[in-house]
Amino acid sequence: MQNKTQLFMVATPIGNLEDASPRALRIFDEVDTILAEDTRVTRKLLNHFDIKTPLERCDEHVISSKSDALVERMSSGERFAFVSDAGMPGISDPGTVLVDKALDQGIKVEVIPGPSAVITALAASGLGIDNFYFAGFLPRKASQRQQALQALSFYAGALVFYESPLRLLATLEALAQAFPNRKALVARELTKLHEELYRDDLPKLFDEFSKRESIKGEIVIVVDALRDHSGRALSPQEAYEDFISRLNSQILPEDPLEFASQLPEDLKTSEKAKQLAQAYNISRKEAYDLLVGK
Ligand code: SAM
Repeated sequence: MQNKTQLFMVATPIGNLEDASPRALRIFDEVDTILAEDTRVTRKLLNHFDIKTPLERCDEHVISSKSDALVERMSSGERFAFVSDAGMPGISDPGTVLVDKALDQGIKVEVIPGPSAVITALAASGLGIDNFYFAGFLPRKASQRQQALQALSFYAGALVFYESPLRLLATLEALAQAFPNRKALVARELTKLHEELYRDDLPKLFDEFSKRESIKGEIVIVVDALRDHSGRALSPQEAYEDFISRLNSQILPEDPLEFASQLPEDLKTSEKAKQLAQAYNISRKEAYDLLVGK
């Protein structure tokens, strides 16, 4: 294990250049090479701070094929900073592969923390964020998006999504269908001149953005945690029970006798009562009485 850090994962501003930390700028000056997702984007940042360190392209298309050679260069003493276009590298951005390989080779890696769109939006949301799940970008295909949301409805904490302005409406519509009673925040252009934080119930958020002629900028959506009637966020156990009861109510006929009529005819009444009791969360005696018409 080497003691000197050879790879720095450096967070960069998500809009406002004042968010570049003094430590990030010092590291940019000290390393031999800055690896950048898009050298043109990072060049602008470096020019602004008059940093002359050489830049090398390292986007998602080349990072896998380049990472072995880069790790070798680190082993021979070259020091690198890695940046994405904006925010924290590795979060919905390239970088993870390189960190993984470097750590496997005993290279010392350090993170220079700073702006991140997901954390900034969560802090701005005022929603139930004791627990949150970062879902990144939802699938574009409607059926896959719906399945993803169904799986996420099982999770009790807040949900965070990245979204493109072109797909915001479709996503808000799907979210409003999946979570009609939950609040959400649309955080647009965080830390930039035209920053907008718009929070409302999901169906109302969808209505609001449907009215707009055009939607521009970068967007994070935060969906509130699951809550009970008093507004308290549900525990994971309560969320599980809630999910199972919702699932059952979707699948089970409202009338228990209709359910019973779908069971195999040759089943004993006591066995039918057992299944009925399980499905409708009633006692076996109640189920038996229903079946025999008491
Ligand atoms: N790694 C970055 C981070 O940690 O913030 C995020 C990179 S991800 C490829 C880009 C997405 O982040 C955008 O499509 C948008 O959803 C979100 N994003 C980035 N900057 C943003 C900003 N200033 N305001 C709102 N969302 C932003």
